[in-house]
Amino acid sequence: MSFDPGAGGGSRPCKTWEVWEVYHTQHDERVCPVCGPHNGQRYKLGEGPQPPLHLNCRCWREEVERTCIETEPEPPKPKPPPEEPHREEGPTRDTTPATPNTSGPPSRPTVGLDPGIVNDGNNPNRVGPGGGQRAQ
Ligand SMILES: [Zn+2]
Repeated sequence: MSFDPGAGGGSRPCKTWEVWEVYHTQHDERVCPVCGPHNGQRYKLGEGPQPPLHLNCRCWREEVERTCIETEPEPPKPKPPPEEPHREEGPTRDTTPATPNTSGPPSRPTVGLDPGIVNDGNNPNRVGPGGGQRAQ
């Protein structure tokens, strides 16, 4: 089991880790009485029994927990440059000239809709060539 050294320290890098290890034995009849009591025990890194405790010792310690107990001091942040005081007055801006209003409806040429001939043939009051007299 391994732990990412960079994890658990929050946003800042960890300065001091508290590492816990578990003492493992082979769990068989050959486990010596020296190591047997330590089986499964947790010890801080650098503390407790450090295998091998004797000749032909098959025990080992495994890191099982890592806790950051001290983080690196917060690095000083570079101060942002002071904001320039906003001034209303200053160089006059170039005002774009107002464009003429051309939003009116475009004039379209009337095609085929001459009112003089639309009702031609259907107007009963149409004055015929006879000057008002209907020609039977
Ligand atoms: Zn041992």
